[in-house]
Amino acid sequence: MHTCDVLIVGGGPAGSSCAWRLRESGLRVVVLDKAVFPRDKVCAGWITPAIIEELKLDIADYAAGRVLQPFTGFLTGLIGRPGVVTDYGRPVSYGIRRCEFDHYLLARCGAEMRLGEPLKTLHPEGEAWIVNDALKARLVIGAGGHFCPVARMVAQRSETADDPVVLAQEVEFEIPERDRAACPVAGERPELYFCPDLAGYGWIVRKGQHLNIGLGREGERNLSAQFEQFLIFLRDRGRLTIDIPKPFHGHAYYLRRYAPPVVTPPGVLLIGDAAGLAYPQSGEGIRPAIESGLLAAQLLRERGLDSSPDLATELQQRFEVRFGRGAKRPKWTPTLANVLRHRAAGWLMQTRWFNRRVLLDRWFLHAHQAALGT
Ligand SMILES: Cc1cc2nc3c(=O)[nH]c(=O)nc-3n(C[C@H](O)[C@H](O)[C@H](O)COP(=O)(O)OP(=O)(O)OC[C@H]3O[C@@H](n4cnc5c(N)ncnc54)[C@H](O)[C@@H]3O)c2cc1C
Repeated sequence: MHTCDVLIVGGGPAGSSCAWRLRESGLRVVVLDKAVFPRDKVCAGWITPAIIEELKLDIADYAAGRVLQPFTGFLTGLIGRPGVVTDYGRPVSYGIRRCEFDHYLLARCGAEMRLGEPLKTLHPEGEAWIVNDALKARLVIGAGGHFCPVARMVAQRSETADDPVVLAQEVEFEIPERDRAACPVAGERPELYFCPDLAGYGWIVRKGQHLNIGLGREGERNLSAQFEQFLIFLRDRGRLTIDIPKPFHGHAYYLRRYAPPVVTPPGVLLIGDAAGLAYPQSGEGIRPAIESGLLAAQLLRERGLDSSPDLATELQQRFEVRFGRGAKRPKWTPTLANVLRHRAAGWLMQTRWFNRRVLLDRWFLHAHQAALGT
């Protein structure tokens, strides 16, 4: 049987960042993923400069042959209404393609790879874990995204049918050459259009010669119809002028605010979407995924594996410091509060101050939170 110290299940941003931070730690790290990379992931694919700093990414190296679209401004508004342009005059965010970004991070992480191999079985043997009856690991880190198999197999999540997940649909495609010059969406200025209750938004983002269009929101059962409506709105406004390929891709994930508490057995940690860490207002999950991977790796470097029963608790505490506490969503929202929320949103979304200082700076760019210094 093959052995390792740390098995990371999932080679997305959370898993690869954790492995990367563990390189030169003396621990034998294996990354297992059911996919063979490069693989795609349903995602709008924008990242903030903090990620580049935290992962010490060499921008020039990354951009050679890959899409790295600087965003210097945004158009933001409510669906059905005119938007507000915010211009920063410098790159405040970047558009990437997940098939390229995830592959790049994984390829440089320095761990041993087992790709194209799904996690099928996981059971304890003494203080270790036996994986797929073929691999023995002292610690298993679940980084398998929202449907992480490690979480499903051995963790206990106090999940209820009411726990709201974000449901999202998107499509990403290369703009046909003949349509590129006429495409009204500027690469440096993504467009975000919020639902009237601010519980979700649609986007149209140009990344080099690719266009990514999507809609994600909480508590919506009929997302496909809403997405179709959003596409009609974009066409009516003249923002979408070309045919888009089908099918659209869908995905779900928890936001940090309402992620149900999860308890893992000794020797198991969860990071990234598996731990439900995406930012509550914007739904962005790449930065929390990366930071949770770095935090987990940092903890292992400090404590070693011998204290593994306490590691999960300690990691939870560090997540709370960094990402805040998860909380139970109220079972009902008073009608009056909803009405006020709609009214306030309609008014606030027309003001430059709210769009720049709150919506963009705080909710999307997380400009108030410095990069993680691990
Ligand atoms: C439509 C949409 C748009 C989004 N846009 C953005 C955005 O613009 N910016 C942003 O920051 N966030 C965005 N997000 C959120 C972001 O995509 C996630 O938060 C992020 O991918 C989480 O990373 P992760 O590493 O935890 O999981 P993932 O990226 O999901 O990686 C999990 C990995 O685990 C592997 N895996 C799964 N099951 C198994 C198994 N059984 N065995 C082995 N391996 C397995 C998968 O193959 C995958 O490689 C968006 C999400 C959606 C749905």
